Formats: sequence, structure tokens, C-alpha cells
Amino acid sequence: MRLALLSDIHGNLEALGAVVGEGRARGVDAWVCLGDIVGYGANPQACLHAVQELTDEVVLGNHDAAAIGQTDLAYFNSYARRAAEWTAEQLGESERRYLASLPFVLQRDDAFFVHAEPRQPSRWGYVHDRAEAKKALDAIEQRFCFVGHSHCPFVCIERNGGMELLPKGPQAIQPLSRYLANIGSVGQPRDGNAQACFALWDQAAETLELVRCPYDITTTQHKIITAGLPPALAERLALGH
Ligand code: ZN
Repeated sequence: MRLALLSDIHGNLEALGAVVGEGRARGVDAWVCLGDIVGYGANPQACLHAVQELTDEVVLGNHDAAAIGQTDLAYFNSYARRAAEWTAEQLGESERRYLASLPFVLQRDDAFFVHAEPRQPSRWGYVHDRAEAKKALDAIEQRFCFVGHSHCPFVCIERNGGMELLPKGPQAIQPLSRYLANIGSVGQPRDGNAQACFALWDQAAETLELVRCPYDITTTQHKIITAGLPPALAERLALGH
């Protein structure tokens, strides 16, 4: 089984299309989405429908919750709040129902999937670094933990009671070891790399990889400006932050 994990699409249809194309080219059999399908970008509906076609394995993100009035916008900066209000206006009843039906976490065999940190997923805490990764792994029983939310991808392995960051590129999974992967963002990367990010877990080959793929940023930026969303949301895409 080749499993692709994607998160933080944020209404960016061009980035989502590029990631799905790359996943298919690499023989992906199944997809899991870690939330924030909407918010920031100009194509929330199209991204929702594309994810619904791709997979039933989807968890709720904070921007998804914001779009249906289920999270407090006081925690959002002004751009995020403006985008959340705009996004809420775009969604129809069936899309709101779909978002309202999403769980905070999914657990499948030896894997745990969540948008934010797993101890209190509805509080939307981040997993930024090795210390937070350790707390996240300590809070669950599964061997693998996959998170999103920060838009800054990294993979780490638990070794000798601590967490070790793994280098970029495909990693061979060590027997019995536990892993945490922050799978970054499809539609609004913030690690200085503007390319869309997702994770590929090849369970037969026993490898784990963060994959980057280019997409048509100019078209996405144009859509954001045309929709009347804050121009800063378009500008940041080219910078990857
Ligand atoms: Zn996000």
C-alpha cells in the first residue's frame, strides 16, 4: 500500500492538483487528508469536492471549523479572519454539513492522524519541534503519528528516549521505531520553500518521504486577488511563508 498524506490545502486548487498528479504518478493507492481544506485560498468549494472524491479519510482542521462557525475567530490574525469570513460565504449547506461531520482524529492500525497536536486536538496546539513531537508521541499508542497545522514539514524518529530529526529525502523505516511526521502544507507552505508539500508512506517498501512539487502559483495568486481576499495571502505563496 502506498499512502499519501496531505494537509493544509487552504483552498489552493492548483497546488492540490499538482499534489494529486504527483501522487498518482508515484502509484499512490490511498489518501488521508489532515484538514484545513479551506481558508486563505480562493477555491474552497472546488478543493472540498476534490478531497471528497479522493478519500473518506479526512480530519477536521481549525480553518474548516472556522468556516462553519465552530471555532473562535479571536485566535486568527486579521488576514485569516477576513479569509474565514469570505470562505464561510462561499460554502453551501451540503459543504457545511460535510465539514461538520469530520472527526478530530483518525486511528488506523498503527497510525494516528490529526490536524493539530494529539493530546487536545480541539485546542489546535502546534507540533513545531522535537520536544513537541515527543509530547505528541507520548500521548498516543500508535507507532506513527501524522500531523499538519504548522505548514512547516519535518519527520522525526524516537531514539534512546529522545526525538531525532531525519534528513530530507525518502527514509527507510526502522523496525519497531516510532515516528512523528509533520507533513507540511499543500496550499500555503511556510518553510521558505514555495512548492506544495505532502507525505508519501510506502508501507510495502517501508519508506517515508516528504515530497515537494511545483505548481502554478501565478494562477493561484491571481484568483486570490480577483476574489477580493487580502493581497498578502497571494504574495506569501511565492515566498513560501
Ligand atoms: Zn493550515
